[in-house]
Amino acid sequence: MTERDTELLREHGLRVTQGRLAVLDQLERLPHADAESVHRALVAAGNDTSVQSVHNVLGDLAAAGLVRRFEPERSAARYERRIDDNHHHAVCARCGKVEDVDCVVGEAPCLHADAPPGFTVRTAEVTFVGICADCAQTAT
Ligand SMILES: [Zn+2]
Ligand SMILES: [Zn+2]
Ligand SMILES: [Zn+2]
Repeated sequence: MTERDTELLREHGLRVTQGRLAVLDQLERLPHADAESVHRALVAAGNDTSVQSVHNVLGDLAAAGLVRRFEPERSAARYERRIDDNHHHAVCARCGKVEDVDCVVGEAPCLHADAPPGFTVRTAEVTFVGICADCAQTAT
């Protein structure tokens, strides 16, 4: 695991640090986590780190294309390791749970929007907002 992540960091031109490896490891377990949840998990696992440094690490990883960042409405940015496929997200408007939705087409652009001339679409950021199954059950 750590070996693969070490490779990945190098491939993406990032210096290998304990902090980056630890964050990648947590994201493996917590897909769609925001910085606060990653921080909480790190602290619970005995890492001594601050929310700010987790933010920085996530920013670096996202900028290098190693993790995907997306921002559900009215929620903090979430990060995930599932990259390189054009999947979308279903976000529960009540509890904020995020679930992956496979793209029917598979690759971007899967929506035929009129992109500006010369513009290459890499990701079609599609977010479905609704009520998740759990919340639907407990709806009053
Ligand atoms: Zn829900
Ligand atoms: Zn996802
Ligand atoms: Zn799609």
